Amino acid sequence: CGIVGIVGRDTVADRLVDSLKRLEYRGYDSAGIATYYKGDLLRRRAEGKLRNLENRLSQDPLPGHIGIGHTRWATHGAPTERNAHPHAGERVAVVHNGIIENYAELKAELAAENVAFSSDTDTEVVAHLTDRELVKGLEPEEAVGRVLRRLRGAFALVFLFKDYDNLLIGARKGSPLAIGYGEGEMFLGSDAIALAPFTDRITYLDDDDWAVVTHDKATVRDATGAVVERGTQVTAAGA
Ligand code: GLU
Repeated sequence: CGIVGIVGRDTVADRLVDSLKRLEYRGYDSAGIATYYKGDLLRRRAEGKLRNLENRLSQDPLPGHIGIGHTRWATHGAPTERNAHPHAGERVAVVHNGIIENYAELKAELAAENVAFSSDTDTEVVAHLTDRELVKGLEPEEAVGRVLRRLRGAFALVFLFKDYDNLLIGARKGSPLAIGYGEGEMFLGSDAIALAPFTDRITYLDDDDWAVVTHDKATVRDATGAVVERGTQVTAAGA
């Protein structure tokens, strides 16, 4: 029920967990993070409280200066580790709040192409649909643009890509998502509270917006693909 993403200058794993702690107030049943480091998408996930994820990370830390995190409130699939986010294909990892209403149809389409699923969530279709476009050779931005057009429902999504250490893409439709501006670092998060440890300079995405975020800039597009300006505010969420 909470999302965070960091395009950082330094290790992000601890900061992702700190941000998820700020989002605990929304309730959750499991949590996880993913980073990209030297050619690999890496994940740690755990059922239950963030403490379980922290224990896992202390035994098996995650390197990487870019990553995404999630607290889950299960809607499709039991609250287990295998259903915890991030979900991943070969070239992308995804965190998602909300519901993909047409996931069954999309899952059937992917299964017919022999895509193997490793969770019972509605979310995993997003990872595999994106993977399919990336394998065709599309750039991440184009791949996500195509995938978003196929999704029905309410969601906030953040995508992390293999081989891209300076790129996150976030999308919002019915679930909140904001961009945070740091010093040579950029953030995505469910709300100002999630971003409070990092920055008070925030842009809230409008419905159907999606944002391409690098360490020094964010480009927001609307559903038609046109670049839009949403304005930046200084919040008082408090660090
Ligand atoms: N529908 C997704 C799931 O059940 C996301 C739930 C959420 O918003 O945390 O995994």
